[in-house]
Amino acid sequence: MAGPRDEIEGLIALMARLPGLGPRSARRAVLHLLRRREGQMAPLAAALAHVAASARDCPICGNIAMGESCEICSDPARATGEICVVEDVADLWAMERGHAFKGRYHVLGGVLSALDAVGPEELGIPRLIARVRDEGIAEVILALNATVEGQTTAHYIAEALEEAGVKVTSLAQGVPIGGELDYLDDGTIQAALRARRAL
Ligand code: ZN
Repeated sequence: MAGPRDEIEGLIALMARLPGLGPRSARRAVLHLLRRREGQMAPLAAALAHVAASARDCPICGNIAMGESCEICSDPARATGEICVVEDVADLWAMERGHAFKGRYHVLGGVLSALDAVGPEELGIPRLIARVRDEGIAEVILALNATVEGQTTAHYIAEALEEAGVKVTSLAQGVPIGGELDYLDDGTIQAALRARRAL
């Protein structure tokens, strides 16, 4: 029969699978929660159960949604005629933290990869093309990671959208705000020089 010790070990093992937590931190977190059962553990358990039962992928953009569609797709003020394409929800959240983009998103959920059998269909690219047409989109902003796979995917999407006659742009790459040239890698300096603008 499983005793309380096994149950707690099981909880630690589940926690240890979270990103950024290994077994040591998981043990510490569980002990912390066990000492605050009423104040922290019960509300955390309730919040996890609620979100686990309600969260889904937004059928329009791929963001996490708590209702039929996500907050951004449900907000008429976000119908600006712009769609920002990101690799995953973490990138969408990062864009939202910047408060600079007022339009809507398309979350790819990955990048093109022949090795992992990820093709345009898996990334929802046909759905993106349909949205551009149906929602009267004027500009698609590609905010993909500056990796080889990210840039390959960006080029593929730009080509796929060519027929739709929509403006396709990508985020500038270059010197970060507060960054010092001396600390930048060669690739960043090259990209910054290529993306230079008149003052
Ligand atoms: Zn959405």
